[in-house]
Amino acid sequence: MIDRSHFEKLDQGDSLAFARDRFRVPEGLVYLDGNSLGPLPTHVPGRLAQVAEVEWGQDLIRSWNANGWWELARAVGDRLAPLIGVPAGSVIAGDTTTVAVYKAAAAARRLRADRAVILTDSGNFPTDLYALSSVAQQFDAILKVVEPGEVLGAIGDHTAVVCLTHVDYRTGRRHDMAGITRAASAAGAVMVWDLSHSTGAMDLDLSGADMAVGCGYKYLNGGPGAPAFTYVHERHHESFANPIAGWWAHAEPFAMAPAFLAVNGIERIQVGTQPILSLAAFHSALEAFDGVEPGDLRRKSERLTSEFIDLVEADLPEFEIVTPRNPDDRGSHVSLAHPEANRIMRTLIAADVIGDVRPPNLLRFGFAPLYQRFVDLWEAVDRLRHIMDNDHWRDAPDPRGAVT
Ligand SMILES: *Cc1c(COP(=O)(O)O)cnc(C)c1O
Repeated sequence: MIDRSHFEKLDQGDSLAFARDRFRVPEGLVYLDGNSLGPLPTHVPGRLAQVAEVEWGQDLIRSWNANGWWELARAVGDRLAPLIGVPAGSVIAGDTTTVAVYKAAAAARRLRADRAVILTDSGNFPTDLYALSSVAQQFDAILKVVEPGEVLGAIGDHTAVVCLTHVDYRTGRRHDMAGITRAASAAGAVMVWDLSHSTGAMDLDLSGADMAVGCGYKYLNGGPGAPAFTYVHERHHESFANPIAGWWAHAEPFAMAPAFLAVNGIERIQVGTQPILSLAAFHSALEAFDGVEPGDLRRKSERLTSEFIDLVEADLPEFEIVTPRNPDDRGSHVSLAHPEANRIMRTLIAADVIGDVRPPNLLRFGFAPLYQRFVDLWEAVDRLRHIMDNDHWRDAPDPRGAVT
C-alpha cells in the first residue's frame, strides 16, 4: 500500500487546508459523502440562532424589510455567482432542484416554441428525467433521451432545448460543457445545465449557456433540504416565461393587482414565499468559500480523485473503477463497482467511513475539495482493504431506513 506519509505530505502542501476548520466534521469520521450532504459549517448554528431569536423572535414581520428577508434569495444568488462564474444578479435561490429543472426547462421550451424536441441523456438524475418528461407532456414537446456519448450528434434543427446534468451522479462522468453549449447555440437550441454535482467543487464555463440550476445541499453545504438555485442569462431576463406565475415574480407584488405582470430580472423565476430559515442557513454557509477560487477547488479535486484512483488500483483490485481515468472527463466523486456493493458499504459505514451506494452495484465516494484531507483517502482504502481481507462484509449490519 502507498505509504500514509505520502498523503500527510499532500495535506501539508494543500493551499486549501485552512478551510477544513470552517467545518464541523466529527473526530475520527472519514466523510466522503459531501456530494450528497455537505457538513455543517461551524459558524452556521450561531447565525441560525440569531435569525430565530432576533429576526423572527423580536423583529417579527419588520424583518422582511429591516433584515433583508425579501432580498435573501437574491443575496444567496449573488454569493453563488462567482462560484458558478456568472455575473451577480443572474442567480437566485429557491425551490428544490426538481422544481428548478421543471421551471427552467419549461421556460426554455417556451423560448423555442417553434421546435419539437427536448434533448437529454440516459445518465441524467432520474428526478430530472421525470421533470423533463412533465415539461414535454405539458408543453407539447417530445422528450428525446440518448446515451451520454450521443448528445452532440443528436443536436439538430428540431432541438428546442438541451437539458443535461454536467456530472453524472452515478459514474462521475463529466460532459464537455463548452463543446455541448457551443453546439446547442449553433443549432439555435436553448441550453440548460444542471450543476448539482459540480458547483462548489470546480470552476465552470457557462459562457453561451442560457440557464442552469443546481442543488444547495451537496458541495455547497447549504444544509439538509437547502433551496436549489437557478441561473438565467441576462439576455432572457425580460423575455422568459415562468410556467407558474406567482406573486414573488410580479413587477409590483404589493400592489396586489388581479392580473400578473412579470418583473424584469432573475426574480422572474420565483413563485411564492421562500423558506427564510433555510435561506439564512444557505447564505451563511456560503461564507465557507470566502477567499477560495473555483479553479483552486478544481485543482485539488483532480488531485484527490487521481490519488484515490491510484490507491484503489494498487490495493483494491477486486473493485472496478467506473469513473473515467482522464481527469477532464470526471467530476469530484469516484464510483467503484462490486456485486456486494450494498453490504460492503454498510460495513464500511460501521467502520466510520461514510460513502454511499447507487444501484445496481456502485459504491460512491465524494471528495469535496473545500474540506477534504488527503489522509482521508488513505484511511478509507485501508479500512476497506481490512473489511475485504477479513470478509467482514458478510456480517454487514442490516439496512436501516429508506435513504441510501
Ligand atoms: C441532488 C440532485 C437533485 C435533487 O433534487 P431535489 O429536488 O433537490 O430533491 C436533482 N438533480 C440532480 C442532478 C441532483 O444531483
